[in-house]
Amino acid sequence: MGFLPFKIGFSAGWEDMCICVDCRWVDRCKAYHAVERQHGVAHLNESPDIEPIEPRIFISVMDMPGGESGVEWDVRACRSFLADHGRWMRLRPGEEIPK
Ligand code: SF4
Repeated sequence: MGFLPFKIGFSAGWEDMCICVDCRWVDRCKAYHAVERQHGVAHLNESPDIEPIEPRIFISVMDMPGGESGVEWDVRACRSFLADHGRWMRLRPGEEIPK
């Protein structure tokens, strides 16, 4: 596993959403690109060019049907966050926000 340019926390049972979906930089951000990879979803941009400042990525362990466990990656804080409510949804109209 390579070097990760952000801090990671761990939690269990948190319900909060990733703040990136409402961030101006979501389609240009290298940290969100990594989150997309962990979620196994299509990238908004194959070549992100913004290195965010101190993104805090939380890894949540979730109970799944059938007694299995799943893992969610979410950014919960970031010094580069610039509010742009609904930006992800405008970039991918009609699609469900990755969870
Ligand atoms: S909140 Fe930070 S990590 Fe998330 S998209 Fe914005 S700049 Fe990137």
